[in-house]
Amino acid sequence: MQTSIDLLRHQLGGIYPPGEITAFTRMIFEALCGYTPTDILLRKDTILSEDIHRKVEEIAGRLARQEPIQYILGYAWFCNRCFDIAPGALIPRPETEELVRLIIKENSGRELRIADLGTGSGCIAVTLALELPHSRVEAWELSSDALAIACRNASKWQTRVDFVQRDILHYDLSQVSPQSLDLIVSNPPYVRQSERESMSGNVLDYEPHEALFVPDATPLLFYDKIARDALTLLSPGGRLYFEINETQGEAIAHMLASYGYKQIRIIKDLYDKDRFASASKPHA
Ligand code: GLN
Repeated sequence: MQTSIDLLRHQLGGIYPPGEITAFTRMIFEALCGYTPTDILLRKDTILSEDIHRKVEEIAGRLARQEPIQYILGYAWFCNRCFDIAPGALIPRPETEELVRLIIKENSGRELRIADLGTGSGCIAVTLALELPHSRVEAWELSSDALAIACRNASKWQTRVDFVQRDILHYDLSQVSPQSLDLIVSNPPYVRQSERESMSGNVLDYEPHEALFVPDATPLLFYDKIARDALTLLSPGGRLYFEINETQGEAIAHMLASYGYKQIRIIKDLYDKDRFASASKPHA
């Protein structure tokens, strides 16, 4: 069967609300043919090769089953860089990009020892290593699958990140040198099990649950452990940056204050939701 680019574009548009050129169409043609949106319009009557046609049909079938486009194509953009993505790690979110931009803005030019706890695809750690080039970045991750993806991303971007396979909740704190870090960042699991119902199939059926969910009884499980350990790990004045559940801002601020942290901020994301927390370890 012969299919023109235009016909296929309309078929793809039909999967999701039909638009001019949907984001999916743009991403698919970019990945398969290297076409820009302008190419898609200018070459609309071009007949696709059998091979490309078959691939597009396969992708369309997977999209119809709600598989995330980033897992299908194997990449996602984060802070203007392309990262390898696979089902063993979360797809980077725009909110996380906001967190990284905030960290870069507040720490540029400084020479810091940074750790990204629960690095997943490594997008936070790699971006910080590139954008804060005087700093040294390490990244902890429990999952071997995620670690492999993160290592690929560090070598793809030719930057040094020291990866450590470590469970944030269960490791021997005495094995890590005290005050060996100046900045800890983490986007840990924060979706409560009871919030599952409100999540869409493309997240629930495909993304790793161990990177998403926490028990309802302990919504601050990771934040509490990290904040406690950071009292040992951070140098005086060292900073914590978290991505957080929008419903937990007040609780996290309270928890941080109870451990004696200073300069506690709960920061909103672009959607005006409490999404980030930051605090400093006291000097004394
Ligand atoms: N923001 C993600 C989501 O809504 C959750 C990320 C996380 O748990 N760290 O799917």
